Amino acid sequence: MHFQSVTEGITLDDSPTGTVMAQIMMVFAQFERETIQRRVTDNYFARAKTGMYLGGRPPFGFDKGETFVDGRRTACYVPNPQQAALMAELYERYLLDGATLGSLVRWLNANEYRTARGGSWSTLPLGRLLRNPAFVQADAAVYQYLQSKGATMNDPVEAYSQQRGCYCYAPLGSALPEKRPTTRKFTDLSGSFVTLAPHAGIVDAALWLAVQHKLDQNRALKRSGSGSHSWLSGLMKCQKCGYAISVVRKPSGMHGHYINCGGHKRGNSICPGRSRVLTLEEIESAAEAQLLIFLKSYRAVEIRIRQRRNVRANQLEASIARQENEIQQLTQNLAHIREVDVIHIISAQIQAAHDRLAMLKAQRDALLYEGPSADLEPYFEAVLEEWQDYTIAEKKKIAKAAIERVLVDDNAIHIIFRADYGS
Ligand SMILES: [Zn+2]
Repeated sequence: MHFQSVTEGITLDDSPTGTVMAQIMMVFAQFERETIQRRVTDNYFARAKTGMYLGGRPPFGFDKGETFVDGRRTACYVPNPQQAALMAELYERYLLDGATLGSLVRWLNANEYRTARGGSWSTLPLGRLLRNPAFVQADAAVYQYLQSKGATMNDPVEAYSQQRGCYCYAPLGSALPEKRPTTRKFTDLSGSFVTLAPHAGIVDAALWLAVQHKLDQNRALKRSGSGSHSWLSGLMKCQKCGYAISVVRKPSGMHGHYINCGGHKRGNSICPGRSRVLTLEEIESAAEAQLLIFLKSYRAVEIRIRQRRNVRANQLEASIARQENEIQQLTQNLAHIREVDVIHIISAQIQAAHDRLAMLKAQRDALLYEGPSADLEPYFEAVLEEWQDYTIAEKKKIAKAAIERVLVDDNAIHIIFRADYGS
């Protein structure tokens, strides 16, 4: 695929007005806040090591009951007979040949089963439910599996005696709802804590693990065709008609996504459309390469500006020292002088030196408080290195800070970055 960047080569001026930089820095600053927030949440989860109930609604299959943990009264899950039986059946059914989350959902709704809230079923919550280790009679293999997903295991493996279910405290999913999409819950457990719960599991370990294995495989398939949303959504415009471009899923059985502009939608013939079919995946990979180059160059500028700022700050400090020295000299001279006229002249000189000193100090203070903090450097680094690991929501935040528009033409995309060049 041919690719053109409107800001070809990306030669950033050393003195951008700073608005774009500020935007980008705000995104990183937000990441930093979230990291802090995550640490706080992690502490909270660390306190939950004992298996104390941490609030919230039990998942479908359980009601809330009461128990004692270490002599302290706490809430716990208690199997709801009908729902627990249905869950056990769903685990079995999911393993049947050809069964998918979609086919289970259709079966559930066709048989008028209702969710805990009385609604109809959908694939995402069902997948999350099947992932939940609350249902498993956890054994050593379950322990290994959860650990391999990145979870911190609060209990020793010997305690996994194929009886109790697990609480999974997933800080990424629950405490930071917008941080990670819910699809990630129970699939990437890094940052999560798993504790043996007081309740007994509903399905045996082998069945539960077989279901996890199938879910993992399906997820890998889905990922290869990208998610259902794009981190470029909201930024893409059709170069021909100017209408927004939306992402259309390919027919089932095919991977990938089409794109479609508002001027070419059914019933709207303003736009001739594209002569060649462009996929979202092509556009994203072309845009991604350019965005990372852009961020790299921005970081380079940021470093240069900071270095220049340091040089300038040092020069100012030197001038301030000279100015203070001069004032001291003049004041000492004044003590030895008796002529009124000369006293007036030197007083005026002292006054002028004080004014210059004030000005220099103001310049130095302005330098100290202007510009992004050097502490954000690691976040630039992280974005450049871990881009592939970011969620669509995270990528979208960065893209929105840096990209004004992505114009999609026949065979090319043109990215307009939010840079204030040469200004
Ligand atoms: Zn169009």
